[in-house]
Amino acid sequence: MAETAPIPSSLDTIEAALTHSKGKCALAIVTLANLEDLEAQCGIESRNKLATEFHQRLQALLRPQDHFISASSDKAIIVFDELIDVHHLQLAGMKLHNVFAHPIPVNDQTAQFIVYGGFLYLARIATSILETKELLARAESALSQAKNQSQPNEPFHIATLDDESVVENHWQIGMRLREAMQAHHIYMDYQPKIDLDNGSLAGAEALVRWRDKGVVLPPADYLPALQADMMWELTVYCFRRVLRDILDYEIDFPISVNLDPVTLNEPELVPFLKRETSLWGVPPSQLILEITEVRDLENLSAAHSVLEELRDLKFSISIDDFGAGHSNLERLRELPMDELKIDRLFCNNIVADKQKQVMTKAVISLAQELGFTTVAEGIEDAESLELLRQWGCQQGQGFYLSAPLPIDSLKALYR
Ligand code: C2E
Ligand code: CA
Ligand code: CA
Repeated sequence: MAETAPIPSSLDTIEAALTHSKGKCALAIVTLANLEDLEAQCGIESRNKLATEFHQRLQALLRPQDHFISASSDKAIIVFDELIDVHHLQLAGMKLHNVFAHPIPVNDQTAQFIVYGGFLYLARIATSILETKELLARAESALSQAKNQSQPNEPFHIATLDDESVVENHWQIGMRLREAMQAHHIYMDYQPKIDLDNGSLAGAEALVRWRDKGVVLPPADYLPALQADMMWELTVYCFRRVLRDILDYEIDFPISVNLDPVTLNEPELVPFLKRETSLWGVPPSQLILEITEVRDLENLSAAHSVLEELRDLKFSISIDDFGAGHSNLERLRELPMDELKIDRLFCNNIVADKQKQVMTKAVISLAQELGFTTVAEGIEDAESLELLRQWGCQQGQGFYLSAPLPIDSLKALYR
């Protein structure tokens, strides 16, 4: 049977489902490839029964958060929402195989469905930068691939918006981000940093938020796509926003601000931070600058003098995500820094993992010897919190303690 084009009105429904998706999602097209053959085999009057069975079995793929968008007798469009990662989608594909694996009885015979699925896996940002038609075309092309090269047990193909297409769209993300800044759709949430000794508030980390059509886009979806100049524009915007929040809400505890390492190459960085803090009357000593993603310590060493200048101005320097990259604590000794944030990989579910315990404990004790404040990130359970506290980790951050909060809620909680 010839491919049926999607019904135009379903484009709006697809767009609505993708736009309101709550996280990573997938656009799926599932087709019943042998409906005509089955009709020939079972008789034309069996068409309705076959189509109904096709739809009913498809329902088994759906979870409450998924959307069944449209279906004809041999084709359906589904949006899977809140996927954890691409493997999660793989599971949906396996399920597709399983639900259509057994034949159906029709008029004293049995009919075997041949079904294919084309899945397009999407980060949330993709739905803002690509037209729905374009996304649908990509899902169709995944469907063709499924038909051409599917294995008997894998009648589906998963396409992802690969790096290449993200690169193509880097400038589009930048343009949209610029518009969002102008429209004040970019703001900061603040995650409390808690003193593990006495449970009091030690500070808060400012985390950028982009509200797009009512949904907040996760920074991991767009920050990696930003070119250096766009990252700098965002840094300028966020820093000013933080200073304004500090003044508007009379925040008197330390606030941590993330600086992407690429901004350390920006000649304006030091003069900008110096000028803005003095203009807004916020003492640099109230600000902790977190340098994210210390993957490449060589580059960080090159930034040594910048960090030194910032410290001379009385900003504190924090090394973020420690342990996630290849950085070596011994070499950190050389850096002008004040705080070490231990990546959440090391601060979660510690009880169950002996190796993690050894490493995390060693990092805390070495960091202390070097005189750094230690902050454990991403604490999600009471047991990990207790161990980290016993090992002498000074501060903690994580959903168990508090999610990131709007500035007014933070202020209200810690008045
Ligand atoms: P990060 O600096 O490591 O920030 C902590 C991230 O962990 C935040 O994600 C926070 O919401 C999340 N988190 C906090 N507690 C928990 C927990 O218990 N469990 C888990 N699984 N996650 C937790 P978010 O806001 O999505 O930010 C992601 C990353 O984006 C940040 O990681 C940081 O690298 C970057 N980022 C955020 N805001 C900014 C910013 O204003 N400027 C720059 N340059 N980067 C930023
Ligand atoms: Ca951070
Ligand atoms: Ca971090």
